[in-house]
Amino acid sequence: TAPNPSPLVAGLNAEQAAAVTLPAEHALILAGAGSGKTRVLTTRIAWLLQTGQVGPGGVLAVTFTNKAAKEMVTRLSALLPVNVRGMWIGTFHGLCNRLLRAHHQLAGLPATFQILDTQDQLSAIKRLCKQFNVDDERFPPKQLQYFIAGCKEDGQRPRDVPARDEETRKKVELYALYEEQCQREGVVDFGELMLRSYELLRDQDAIRAHYQRRFRHILIDEFQDTNRLQYAWIKLFSPPPMEGLDVAAGNAVFAVGDDDQSIYAFRGARVGNMADFVREYRVQHQIKLEQNYRSVSNILDAANHLIGHNQRRLGKNLRTDAGAGEPVRINESPSDFIEAQWVVDEIKSLVREETPRSEIAILYRSNAQSRVIETALFNAGLPYRVYGGLRFFERAEIKHALAYLRLIENPRDDTSFLRVLNFPPRGIGARSVEQLQDVARAAGCSLHDAVSAVTGRAGTAIAGFVAKIDVMRERSEGSHLKGIVELVLEHSGLVEHYRQEREGQERVENLEELVNAAESFVMQEGFGREAVALTQSPASQGLDLNVPVLDEPLAPDADTGETLSPLAAFLSHAALESGDNQAQAGQDAVQLMTVHAAKGLEFDCVFIVGLEEGLFPHENAMSDRDGLEEERRLMYVAITRARQRLYLSHSQTRLLHGQTRYNLKSRFFDELPEHCLKWLTPPQPSGWGGTGSAGWGGHRALGTPVPQPAWSPAWKAASAPAPEPDRGTPIKSGMAVFHNKFGEGKVLAVEGAGDDARAQVNFPRHGTKWLALSVAKLTPIE
Ligand code: ATP
Ligand code: MG
Repeated sequence: TAPNPSPLVAGLNAEQAAAVTLPAEHALILAGAGSGKTRVLTTRIAWLLQTGQVGPGGVLAVTFTNKAAKEMVTRLSALLPVNVRGMWIGTFHGLCNRLLRAHHQLAGLPATFQILDTQDQLSAIKRLCKQFNVDDERFPPKQLQYFIAGCKEDGQRPRDVPARDEETRKKVELYALYEEQCQREGVVDFGELMLRSYELLRDQDAIRAHYQRRFRHILIDEFQDTNRLQYAWIKLFSPPPMEGLDVAAGNAVFAVGDDDQSIYAFRGARVGNMADFVREYRVQHQIKLEQNYRSVSNILDAANHLIGHNQRRLGKNLRTDAGAGEPVRINESPSDFIEAQWVVDEIKSLVREETPRSEIAILYRSNAQSRVIETALFNAGLPYRVYGGLRFFERAEIKHALAYLRLIENPRDDTSFLRVLNFPPRGIGARSVEQLQDVARAAGCSLHDAVSAVTGRAGTAIAGFVAKIDVMRERSEGSHLKGIVELVLEHSGLVEHYRQEREGQERVENLEELVNAAESFVMQEGFGREAVALTQSPASQGLDLNVPVLDEPLAPDADTGETLSPLAAFLSHAALESGDNQAQAGQDAVQLMTVHAAKGLEFDCVFIVGLEEGLFPHENAMSDRDGLEEERRLMYVAITRARQRLYLSHSQTRLLHGQTRYNLKSRFFDELPEHCLKWLTPPQPSGWGGTGSAGWGGHRALGTPVPQPAWSPAWKAASAPAPEPDRGTPIKSGMAVFHNKFGEGKVLAVEGAGDDARAQVNFPRHGTKWLALSVAKLTPIE
């Protein structure tokens, strides 16, 4: 093959290099996990820029999660010095937001439109149903939410939905009413972001032509998980030759994906988009990558073997040159509580061996599983971050503060208005709220605009609230974002309110964290600062910094939504971002997330917990083959996140949604090749784990002595819940002990005897406490 002069491709294998340097034509890279798809995509962007084929403004790159988009930007800036801020790299939602901000008028939206996250959307639907006296047994709001999201994913407005029966007709009617409500309030939900920008491009010829000219290269990662609408959206940027609507725009679509990692069918993802793409775009360049660079062969073998049980596959091979590495470790626990303890113990020893905490991930199937693990990590003093699930921006106190901020931006946002109208409490009762809503409905205006029509005491109180918002708006003019957030926290009375709450300290801290989040957002986004210096030296091998294209200044860019105020940008960020600004940001922390959220990421060590029938594979998916195959792909994604070490774990009992469940271990264990496994716990004799096990997790009343299997070294520390001070080891000064809530501590002193015995214990994370031994559950640990 011809020697390629670019150092960018020097480290790549032949297929990867070929993919990176393909001519500007449509291409599909279909390859398994860890084969370098994302790396190829990122390097291709760098290569296109470096060889002057396109400027930073001519690239549109889409990926699935915020974390992945960030990762891409980071990798790109490591490859060559480029102003990544001017580039359109992001998630579908993020890019749609950007489009709609830039062309809000043509899209029929107010400049200050706000984004409803899933929670907000549900409460908006509930409000609507209440207003129209919808029977929520027949039409549960959650189902309506699902229905509306599904219609939007299929690109359907209410008039497009075939109303087959009475029930659908009613749902469509509510969908239409919901749309009206959103439009009136100036808010859009996630599905709307996508659909609205799709319609904008479809209907506005000038805008479509502009972007078709602008984006010469369109690159899509994780293509297997695009849904119908997303694929249609891409087609508008680069019409396929077969459709004949537009003259071929001459731009190139570069899609990378892996059919084995398609895990969003439940949200409308269509793996068939890959085949359609090849056909409709007459794709000439299809490249397979077969070398895995991520995982040791024990991990890769496990993944390959597992996915081999799926029948519907395009079929790919993956090999690795890495050695066998450590075997995949499998552990069984009697309860989820003990499982969490086991994970924590393993992590402690990994950290002792100098694994950075951020290179350790704990993956689970459902968000609800994180709580017990979080508790164990917290007690052990191990910093962690949770992605998705309980997001920072979804906590109640944060949403309250954001509601005030949103009202400053857009007073017509009724969802926000209702959220804080009487919070902190200011004596506005439900009756007054209803009265206000009636007036607004009759006048067809927002709650904010209806205020003057409400009279009497209620009217005065509500007018007071509106005046408060107006004052905040006035005072925030010309302020920095951080100043605005501080102003709102103080002036809204939120901080004051939580200070007086008995357990409000954490909420106050979270609110303070919002100030930090605002500040770091401004820094990251570079508002009010010079653009990223273009002369930074790249981390990679001796690049020529004088590549002409890099010196070309970015054209002043009307498309990028630069005019967006920092507050508006921050509010979009809060609605779109998943917890990337949690308190622990920047700290070296263990990573917790669902398997879905882990897509595309990699870690040295990975724990997959809760591998039980009904949980993973999930019970909703077990009844049909498609569902089961999707679960298996999900497991394939989970396994292939690990580079060096993989731990699989299941528990005999689990407290989930308030119930103790007795689970069988996941069928996926039987689908792994024995030679790469190491069972840490031998299969249990039958009958073991009966009555006694219920109490082990500390979820039930204690009393029965805890059986102690000999096989688990982690067991002793984990069996903490058995206090039995009279029968167990006496607590003595100097001892290391474990407490259910406070974690590990050291006994400083013991006083008294019998029922009056008390111990003074120092807990590293909670300080020194006196505990009554007859009550406190303290267990000695070695
Ligand atoms: P996934 O399907 O999970 O998204 P992927 O195919 O996108 O995986 P990447 O994340 O791009 O794979 O690459 C996996 C890892 O292998 C990364 O750490 C990447 O830097 C590394 N890698 C890729 N190609 C090479 C190569 N030619 N030499 C060395 N390392 C490589
Ligand atoms: Mg990838």
